[in-house]
Amino acid sequence: MRCEICGLDPCETEGFCRFSRETDARNKAKPPAQSDLPKYWESMDVGTLWDVLNNPARYSDAAQSTYDAIEWSLIYNDGLRNPRVRSANLRRLSQLSDRQLKHLISVLERQGCRPEMIAEIEGYL
Ligand SMILES: [Zn+2]
Repeated sequence: MRCEICGLDPCETEGFCRFSRETDARNKAKPPAQSDLPKYWESMDVGTLWDVLNNPARYSDAAQSTYDAIEWSLIYNDGLRNPRVRSANLRRLSQLSDRQLKHLISVLERQGCRPEMIAEIEGYL
């Protein structure tokens, strides 16, 4: 049967495709995104609204694809011990916001990942 994620028959990246399917299911279960416009934005002058919208703190999260890649690699590939992917994962870790790091740590704890790996990630907080 053709895999709906990678399009191959049979699937050649089962772990990744299963993870993608689970992520898609989780995202569909979430309520629709709320607007992230500031409250009362209609009454702000253009200069204030510009400053609020361009505040770097609004964009501190890494791209969701970066987060998903490192979460998958750490859970299924022991991505900080595996020398083939360690440097890429350290770079990805450095891009995550504190909020994303805390979420990642809670996911890794629930998945029963190595405590040494979790401790190393906590160092990025
Ligand atoms: Zn597949």
